[in-house]
Amino acid sequence: MNIIAYGAHAGDQPLEPMRITRRAPGVHDVQIEIAYCGVCHSDLHQVRSEWAGTLYPCVPGHEIVGRVSAVGAQVSGFKPGDLVGIGCIVDSCKHCEECDAGLENYCDHRVDTYNSPTSDAPGYTLGGYSQQIVVHERYVLRIRHPEAQLATVAPLLCAGITTYSPLRHWKVGPGHKVGVVGIGGLGHMGIKLAHAMGARVVALTTSESKREAALALGANEVVVSRNADEMAGHAGSFDFILDTVAAPHDLDPFFKLLKRDGTMTLVGAPATPHPSPQVFSLIMKRRSLAGSLTGGIPETQEMLDFCADRGIVADIELIRAEEINTAYERMLKGDVKYRFVIDNASLAA
Ligand code: NAP
Ligand code: ZN
Repeated sequence: MNIIAYGAHAGDQPLEPMRITRRAPGVHDVQIEIAYCGVCHSDLHQVRSEWAGTLYPCVPGHEIVGRVSAVGAQVSGFKPGDLVGIGCIVDSCKHCEECDAGLENYCDHRVDTYNSPTSDAPGYTLGGYSQQIVVHERYVLRIRHPEAQLATVAPLLCAGITTYSPLRHWKVGPGHKVGVVGIGGLGHMGIKLAHAMGARVVALTTSESKREAALALGANEVVVSRNADEMAGHAGSFDFILDTVAAPHDLDPFFKLLKRDGTMTLVGAPATPHPSPQVFSLIMKRRSLAGSLTGGIPETQEMLDFCADRGIVADIELIRAEEINTAYERMLKGDVKYRFVIDNASLAA
């Protein structure tokens, strides 16, 4: 199928409309008409070749929601008309230790939704800034939110699961004090989810202007991290900190906020390394530094159901596809509350 997409021909070129092809659904495939696609900072890193190995033309987008339009003969879990989502993974080896554990995100042969090798043309995957996608049913998620909320569900497919998974892995819950660093697309979901899990949530932001808004998202307190006195007031008090910042920055001031045995987990993936840590800020209180990558398919479904049961969605700004280049510039300035989502109907207009 020949469809319209939005992508870039080189790292220093703006995104523009282009035509791409999708395979006909195989026996295990689900074909999805994409209604909305969230705009993740990873899309920007990848399409501008800030991480190594971007293949062009590059069509980003891994926060995909839409409706099933066709299914292969052996698909049992989905039928035409179903509301579904696709996140960061569209395939994996299906038989390694990670896949067996439902942690396809850690499979060495994981196929990302864009920029990963595949036998489909052009030889690597093309993402959700497009009209349609065809994916093996194992990687298709069921959406139980009301259809009217569909655009606001899209960011759950990456920003939601990328924050939910570490909050669950490090068993965040009642009685815990949790910090979320960087209040962007991931960070605002981190606040909502940690709050819903019963933790006391502190938003750690560089933006004085987000103080009030972070409280409205569910934070119990907001700390402007550039303010050393405010930071010092929280020294040694956090059980867990989730760092979602998209740029290199000094981690040590955040380690000092952790209690003995506290953990700081990095999910932000800047193109160049952080200038820290100083080992002493870790060893003095047996603190841990960790990382986490998106989440597996069963946990992504669990997160979507958790959010549907509690009415949790992302705060979004809906844009047309041709506004994507401006949206990237605004995202770089932190000027979005809190996720741009493309209305994919605008691709055809
Ligand atoms: P985003 O919406 O742009 O938010 C990032 C936030 O980080 C900003 O809103 C800002 O928050 C803070 N920030 C940005 N630049 C900064 C700077 N120079 N100094 C200090 N703070 C800065 O991005 P996102 O979509 O949430 O993605 C965040 C990062 O996570 C990206 O690197 C992305 O690639 C990565 N990511 C990782 C995974 C994973 O699996 N690990 C999955 C998805 C995304 P304040 O204004 O509050 O300071
Ligand atoms: Zn993402």
